[in-house]
Amino acid sequence: MKRSAVKLERRHPRRGFALAVAAISVLIVILAISVLALVERQRAAARDQAIMRVSYLAQSFADHASRILDMTAVLVQFVAGEMELGQRGGRPAAAEFPRPVLDRLATLTQARGVAVYDADGRVVLHASGDRALFENAAADVLARHRGAALEFVVTGLGGNPDSGAAQLLLSQRIDTADRRFGGAVAVSLSPRGLREFFQAGSPPGVAAVALLDTTGAVVAQSSGLLPAPPANLLASFRRVAGTGRGAEWHGDTLIAWYQLRDFPFSVALAATPNIIERGWRAEAIVYSLLLTILAAGAATSLWLIRGQLRRRAEADALLQGFVAHPPLIMSLRDRTGRYLMANPRFCKVFGKSEAEIIGRLPRDIFEPHAAERLEREFTQTVSAGQALTFEARVSTTEGDRDLVIVRFPLRDSDNRLLGVGTVSIDLTERKRAEEALRERESDLRKQAVELERLAHDNARQREAAEMANRAKSEFLAHMSHELRTPLNAIIGFAEVIEKRLYGESWERYGDYAEDIRRSGQHLLGVINDILDVSKIESGRYSMSPDRVELHDLVATCLRLVRGRAQENGITLDARLPAALPPVNVDAQATKQVLLNLLSNALKFTPAGGTIVVETEILPDRSLRLHVRDSGAGIEPAHLERIFEPFWHNASRIRHGAEGTGLGLTISKKLMELQGGDIVIDSEIGKGTTATVTFATGTVLAAPAA
Ligand code: ADP
Repeated sequence: MKRSAVKLERRHPRRGFALAVAAISVLIVILAISVLALVERQRAAARDQAIMRVSYLAQSFADHASRILDMTAVLVQFVAGEMELGQRGGRPAAAEFPRPVLDRLATLTQARGVAVYDADGRVVLHASGDRALFENAAADVLARHRGAALEFVVTGLGGNPDSGAAQLLLSQRIDTADRRFGGAVAVSLSPRGLREFFQAGSPPGVAAVALLDTTGAVVAQSSGLLPAPPANLLASFRRVAGTGRGAEWHGDTLIAWYQLRDFPFSVALAATPNIIERGWRAEAIVYSLLLTILAAGAATSLWLIRGQLRRRAEADALLQGFVAHPPLIMSLRDRTGRYLMANPRFCKVFGKSEAEIIGRLPRDIFEPHAAERLEREFTQTVSAGQALTFEARVSTTEGDRDLVIVRFPLRDSDNRLLGVGTVSIDLTERKRAEEALRERESDLRKQAVELERLAHDNARQREAAEMANRAKSEFLAHMSHELRTPLNAIIGFAEVIEKRLYGESWERYGDYAEDIRRSGQHLLGVINDILDVSKIESGRYSMSPDRVELHDLVATCLRLVRGRAQENGITLDARLPAALPPVNVDAQATKQVLLNLLSNALKFTPAGGTIVVETEILPDRSLRLHVRDSGAGIEPAHLERIFEPFWHNASRIRHGAEGTGLGLTISKKLMELQGGDIVIDSEIGKGTTATVTFATGTVLAAPAA
């Protein structure tokens, strides 16, 4: 047995799968980038919003500080106005502040004290507050107001701004009547009020709020510390000083400034990252979570798809191998009859490429007769709804092939027809082998029959040969007996005469001579008959049929026997129709046969009997001659033997009329040589009828009606 391993081609969908993985990965990366961008935008927006919020806060704190300073300035101007009215020679006229001034001072909670300086900078009038503070600030106040127009000056007086010990001083110059420097009025303010306001007004996320002077020094601030490293802070502060407002990130801290409108101060505000809206983080988390789920889902799907693809690829490879390797012709057609699949054997057998088959109908591929058969079988299979088997002789690239074709409908789970599958097997070789076997069987049968026939013939021939041999031996025995009997008689009688056994009287020897003649005649008859038989047997007796008038022939024969009939008192009669058509027979042989029969009739018919010759013409123009006698008849047991050579019933023969036993033998053979026959019917005591039948067509013209 030839062993061949079926090699299956495993086609992995690697490329397609890798493309899918790449595409999905790219998609996920794009999504991740988009999410990041989105989150970043949200974060940036949140930071922008924080800047806006913080800037707005700084502005409100600055507005509040401005309002306090404004109110203080109004108080300073009011006091200066009061002082101007009472001024004399550069000195206040009153030893103390007028009542309205003190009242106003009392309403302004931030104000701590009020003082009046003379032109030399001495504190000449003072109410509440720390006098030392005013005195300490005198030089500064003079330096700012001397020579300047009437204006008020705000001076930070140092001290610890946190503890509230720091002081702010708002002052205004007082002129003399002749417009010379007459001194100044100053109101001191405590930054604590501001500090408390800053503190109370700070929302969560604001670390500290401070009031800075133009040098950046802190005048007042909320409890939190402004971020310490003021180097870059100052730098940015100065940078934005010209614009009056600004905000900047310093690391994680957002710093915003707002410059007061009419005063040389700015509000600075430091915010921690908490100030930023955290919404974007939640969004970022949600997006990241979604993205992670998506990526995990995609990865799981890809993994599952990969498994499925591999299984599908294996199943495909198995199916392809299953379809490609067996020596079967397989195809698949859709419900409209178009080819969906054709296996390699199909392509090879029909000499078409797959591209020439797929998607086409049979009539696009095969010659009309074959296509018509395919369509018919397709329709039959579809309407049968089950597998059908066909046999066809199909012309292929390998010559005419005998195929057994199985077609089966394919259906989906809803029993809808999807198409028809076909599997064909080539049985040409087997059929040829069967045919050869059948032929050989029939040859053998013929040979057997022939052998049987030969054996049969052989047996028959052997039997015939044996019979002939036996007949010949019998014939020779009879013949020698028949010859010896008369010869013995002749020799015996001749001896009697020769030795004159009965004396010298010739009368008696005359009878012996008569016996010798008769025996000699009989011997001649026997020898003549034997010669006739041997002539016929050896095939030397040639028939020469000729036109013969039956009347003449019968008359001749009757003439020859009439004498003997009359001698024996027998009536001889010929009952022939007056008009007899001529016949085509051998005249000599026919005469011999008729004479033989007449002589037999004469031998066995007693005196007073009758012998009649009749003719009969049959529709097939054959001729019959009947010789009827009213003689002794033949025993049925003898009837079977009368045609055997030398057989005769001597006991019944009338004296002096003995025969040789060859007459009927010769007659039958002569008739057979002419294509005819002799039949003898007989009944003991009634007579015998011999019927001679000639061949069809012997009568030359139709008998007269
Ligand atoms: P044979 O020369 O002895 O007559 P055949 O062959 O002619 O020999 O006849 C054979 C025998 O058939 C006869 O011996 C006789 O017994 C019988 N046979 C023939 N013809 C007749 C007949 N017409 N009537 C009675 N017996 C007949």
